[in-house]
Amino acid sequence: MQNCQCCVDESAVPRTGPNLKVIGTMSVGYDHIDLAACKKRNIAVGYTPGVLTDATAELAVALLLATSRRLIEGASAVKSGQWGSWSPLWMCGPGLLNSTVGIVGLGRIGLAIARRLRPFNVSRVLYTGRQPKDSAKEVSAEFVGLDTLLAESDFVVVSCAITPETTALFDRKRFAQMKRGAMFVNISRGAVVVQEDLVDALKNGVIRAAGLDVCTPEPLPVDSPLLALPSCVVLPHIGSAAEETRAVMSVMTAKNILAAFNNQPMPAQVKSPCLLNTSY
Ligand code: NDP
Repeated sequence: MQNCQCCVDESAVPRTGPNLKVIGTMSVGYDHIDLAACKKRNIAVGYTPGVLTDATAELAVALLLATSRRLIEGASAVKSGQWGSWSPLWMCGPGLLNSTVGIVGLGRIGLAIARRLRPFNVSRVLYTGRQPKDSAKEVSAEFVGLDTLLAESDFVVVSCAITPETTALFDRKRFAQMKRGAMFVNISRGAVVVQEDLVDALKNGVIRAAGLDVCTPEPLPVDSPLLALPSCVVLPHIGSAAEETRAVMSVMTAKNILAAFNNQPMPAQVKSPCLLNTSY
């Protein structure tokens, strides 16, 4: 179960009263809902798959650039009066040109990220997952094992589903496999990362920087060690926060709920009986 303040967990579902018929989550992820408890009480769960792919991919690219080109650090330096005379290496970071980008999970969002990165003239796009994808041809992405992806990528972007295999996938060992100057970006779920190991990897220069749209817990406490690191950009899980996207998501959520009330098939009902969200 995701560690967040909006969880509909084992304790919340029984407290909802006997008439609860449907839960409509305005998200593609449903790892904050206890599906087993819902199933036991015959509560239908609706969600919003597919409609937030582009917004999340756009945010992933924005986060990658904000991290690599140090946008947040630069903007704070302006505000705090640290912007002095021009200096050759001040606020420099690696560009995407001729770089190798490794995408962990070339699903809907991973592919949409790869599409957006091609015009930056990256030299190679690598990806890993459970099997090669036909769709990879469109973006000339090469299927490799995770070890190779980590060893060869300048930018590692995580856009996989959260499953038992991907939970805590990025730990001390995985960060040590990355290039020393590499950047790590995660828009998937906080649970993919062992956060203390990421903090250590950043502090010890094992990797150069990280950009996170997701973390553990959410919201992240302001005294989190991640927030003390200038090399880490943390966003408040805003992947889908494009106005048009949220409008479409809210309509879809309302349609899910109304359909359940009217005993009609929901436009998007969660089918998986398992607790982890594997079908975003
Ligand atoms: P998809 O189901 O289309 O893609 C998920 C991908 O995860 C698949 O390509 C799958 O690869 C891959 N995957 C599964 N297991 C592994 C593994 N062990 N190693 C590497 N890859 C693996 O989902 P979406 O692209 O729509 O969403 C992906 C993620 O983005 C989800 O975790 C979702 O929660 C997150 N998300 C985040 C948002 C945000 O606001 N930050 C908003 C929306 C989604 P294969 O097919 O080979 O199994």
